[in-house]
Order: sequence, then C-alpha cells, then structure tokens
Amino acid sequence: MRLLLLAPPGAGKGTQGERLAAWSGARHIAAGDLLRAEARADGALGREIAAYQARGDLVPDQIVLDVLTPAVVEAAACGGYILDGFPRTLPQATAAAELAARLGVTLQAVVYLHAPQEVLTRRLLDRASQAGRADDVADVIRHRLRVYAETTGPLVPYYTERGILVAVDADQPPDSVTADIQAALSALPLTRLPTADIE
Ligand code: AMP
Repeated sequence: MRLLLLAPPGAGKGTQGERLAAWSGARHIAAGDLLRAEARADGALGREIAAYQARGDLVPDQIVLDVLTPAVVEAAACGGYILDGFPRTLPQATAAAELAARLGVTLQAVVYLHAPQEVLTRRLLDRASQAGRADDVADVIRHRLRVYAETTGPLVPYYTERGILVAVDADQPPDSVTADIQAALSALPLTRLPTADIE
C-alpha cells in the first residue's frame, strides 16, 4: 500500500498512521518524527531544523526532501509506505510525485483527515499537558494551524483533481476514524489498490 495521510495538526495522523501500517504491512513514515530525530543530531543542520520546528514553521522543502526521500524509497522497495506529514507543500508534492513516477511507486490514495479548528486546538493543548512537545504551546499551535491552512491546505484540491483523495471525518473516537479509513480504502478500485494489500 502507498498512502498519504493529509491532515492538520491534531487530527490524529500519527495514531492512524501507526494503525494503518500494522493493518497493511506498509511502513509508517512520520515526517515530523524524522525531522525531530535529525534536529537532535549535533551540527548546524540539526539546529536549523530544531529552530523551524520550535517556531511551528515548516522546514524548508530541500531539507525535508533530503531527509525524507531515502526513507520513502526504502519503504517503497519493501511493502509500501504510509506517509504522515509529507508532502506538506505543493513543491514537495510535485518533487515527490516526480520521484515516485520515476521509481514506479506513485501514491494510490490520499486520506484527508478533517476536524473543526476548535477540536484540533483542544486536542493539541491536551497533548501539551501530557507529552510536552516543544511546539504544543498555545501561540505555536495557533501558528501551526495557520501555516497548515495557508501552505498545506492547497494540497486538498491538488489531490482531489488527481482523483486519489478520500475525506474522512477525524472528529470521532480513534477506532471509528480507523474503521472509516479502512472502509474508504477497501472501496477503492482494485486496479488502484491490490486486495492483498488491504486484507
Ligand atoms: P508534525 O509532527 O507532523 O506535527 O510536524 C512537526 C513539525 O515538523 C512541523 O511543525 C514542521 O516544523 C516540521 N515538519 C514536519 N513535516 C514537514 C514537512 N513535510 N515540511 C516541512 N516541515 C515539516
């Protein structure tokens, strides 16, 4: 399975990405996690990435592509990928599409998880009080939601026009969201999604 989870912060793409990976056998690739790991490494690149993440700004496209591409290529070669948080800009989407086309591993579906802004904010503030991620504080959360709307939002029409976007209501308990995603994927044309991948 080759899938992208497209969702604003707080919609649950990390949780759903892990579940879909376990369900399908494809590898879950969480862009934020890979970039956080890179940010923890010593050196100027790590510090640069950490600064973008702390502000809630997107890391520049070229850095993201350099970090993410090897992971995606490797996953594509062994069972597929569930992309979580990448691509997040139109230039990332076109670069990823070109690479995937060259390798014959293009996206089969984009799952768009949507929820009202106040639900997303509440969830992120709840997570802040539990997990304590540096970018889960009120003003950075507001900024991340604005960045999402301005920069990542345009990917919804981009993938809709390409006929591969399925929208799922993320304002439900996690099990219901998972069930809705699985039902939506199972209903896709078999030519796009081999049944063996989704059993
Ligand atoms: P996430 O864990 O998906 O919420 O991402 C946390 C942060 O990592 C974001 O606020 C960005 O700073 C950075 N990030 C994650 N994915 C991307 C991406 N595809 N492009 C640019 N920055 C990203």
